[in-house]
Amino acid sequence: MPFLISPTRLTLLGAMMIAGAIFAADLFGPLQGATAVLYIIAILLASQTSGRRSVLLAGLGCAVLAMIGFAVNYRGDPIDGAFLRFVVSLIVIAASTILSMRERTVRTTLAERAHIVELTHDTVIIRDAKDVIDYWNDGAERLYGWTREEAIGKACQQLLHSEFPSAEVARALRENGRWSGELTRVSRDGSRIVLASRWLRRRNPEGEAIGVMEASADVTEQRRADADREVLERRYSAVFHAAGFATWESDWSALWRIVKAVTANGAGLHAWLAAQPEAVRAAAGQAAIRDVNHAAVKLFGGTSREALVGGNIVGRYLPESEQSFARMLGSLFEGAEVVETEARFSTLNGGTVDVLLWVTPLREGKPWSRVLVMAHDITERNEARAKLEQTSAQLAHATRVSLLGQLAASIAHEVNEPLAAIINYGNAGKRWLLREAPNTPEVAKCLDHIIFNGSRAAEVLARVRSLARKEAPQLRPLDLAELIDEAVSLVQREASAARVIIRRVVAANLPLICGDRVQIQQVIVNLLINAIQAMQNISGRPREIRVGVNSQADNMVHIAVRDSGTGISGNPTDIFTPFFTTKADGMGMGLSICRSIIEAQGGHITAINNPDFGATVTFTLPINPAGQTRRLDNSQT
Ligand code: ADP
Repeated sequence: MPFLISPTRLTLLGAMMIAGAIFAADLFGPLQGATAVLYIIAILLASQTSGRRSVLLAGLGCAVLAMIGFAVNYRGDPIDGAFLRFVVSLIVIAASTILSMRERTVRTTLAERAHIVELTHDTVIIRDAKDVIDYWNDGAERLYGWTREEAIGKACQQLLHSEFPSAEVARALRENGRWSGELTRVSRDGSRIVLASRWLRRRNPEGEAIGVMEASADVTEQRRADADREVLERRYSAVFHAAGFATWESDWSALWRIVKAVTANGAGLHAWLAAQPEAVRAAAGQAAIRDVNHAAVKLFGGTSREALVGGNIVGRYLPESEQSFARMLGSLFEGAEVVETEARFSTLNGGTVDVLLWVTPLREGKPWSRVLVMAHDITERNEARAKLEQTSAQLAHATRVSLLGQLAASIAHEVNEPLAAIINYGNAGKRWLLREAPNTPEVAKCLDHIIFNGSRAAEVLARVRSLARKEAPQLRPLDLAELIDEAVSLVQREASAARVIIRRVVAANLPLICGDRVQIQQVIVNLLINAIQAMQNISGRPREIRVGVNSQADNMVHIAVRDSGTGISGNPTDIFTPFFTTKADGMGMGLSICRSIIEAQGGHITAINNPDFGATVTFTLPINPAGQTRRLDNSQT
């Protein structure tokens, strides 16, 4: 391996040898101390290659050598001109050491800066007054594809075919000495590059313009992405404004801040939403509309987009929409992608509008702050639905009254019986009272009978009145076993007249159901009457109706009315079709109404023919969510 010595070491060695030679000349030469000034050569030489510390050491070393030389040559001699030369030499050594160290620092800083220019990803080009390239950094090599050797000395315009607003650039350089803007260039492989560029005019110490320094960054991809985004935004805007449905974009940042503050305080979001409706409304009122389409302007009774932009729709919901609105907020802030909800808003012209809303956060930033809302006007649909509900309620009422009509004879009998008893006991009581010696205990007994029979008649009438009642359906927790008992009492006489036995098999711990009392009773009475009628003409087997009630795993209570009658002629599902009847005086509306009642309350009704004889009609109803149960043992009549 050859012995290698670095140029730095070589220079240092040279500096040391020179210092040694000067020391020798100082000791043995005839110049009497004047030689020490020459140490400056060794210091300057050391400063060319080494750092500040070495320069300092070189300076100190030279000073020590100068002192030794002076001490050896002038020991004991009186202070004269030689001493002054020695002092001057020391000053020169110190000054040259300090200057060399500073020069070294400046050189290091400049070298570092030049290195940074090499490191940067930007392109750095220095051109002279004739546009000839003087300097070309690594970034320029990478981006334009020309090496430093190939580029330096070439005219920049010829090499890169720059396109830029030349008049504007010339003026800016002339007036401000700098320009910044965008330009396009062609790289070695022919591709067009868009650059964000900053140019600085170069001047010589006399102030004359000697060219331009420029630093440029490649923004081709960014501009392409900007252009793509612009196309997308134009497309989005076209769809947004041309959409036949109402849509608007809202800024929810203020609303978001309020919710954040609430949750940061430790309050649960849902608890806050439920307990502070006023605060929620105030927060919702902070949402500001950024853009709105014409359909939305029309929906909210505005005259122009300006009437809504900057304003607020979200906070215009009416009290009946409070809960659905709070639920929607909760879901959105918990991360739902889209929430669908119904709401009723007050409009700008003082009306109200029912809408089906789809609200989706536009997740452009974290946290998101903008939402896109789409709304469909369901006012007419809701009005039609309300009318339909009203008509069905009227129809159900009419069928109930018709059912009662079928029971009229039994009802009259049931009321007549106690009335006759009341009259009899009244007469008897009067007789006991008009005796010479009135028998008050007997009168009291008669009065007891009158009270009992009066109550019986009143009970029958109350049941009939409750079924004949005309009221909007009301869902509430109900005890089915109790309802069945009442329905059975209503048809009991009819059943007895037809020699039909009604048995009830009600499961123990039956949960309460949720439904409308009158309507469900109507269904049970209807099924019981149909079952009694289906058994009117049978012989050779017991006439029996079995009402079975139990709850099942599907969270529903199942009620099955099974008879031993003729069975359903034809397809059992047809009996729920309106006006389907096989009876001479039938209307065929009873079961169709039963089906709409049960389905409106979240249940199902089905009919089958039994394997042996007769039919079973089964309906289900949802268990009351509160989950209350009643205690009851199996019972039968
Ligand atoms: P209507 O009693 O006026 O005929 P419904 O809608 O109550 O109207 O019943 C429709 C038809 O369904 C009846 O005419 C009858 O043919 C059939 N049907 C209903 N229940 C039974 C049953 N338990 N057994 C046999 N057929 C039945």
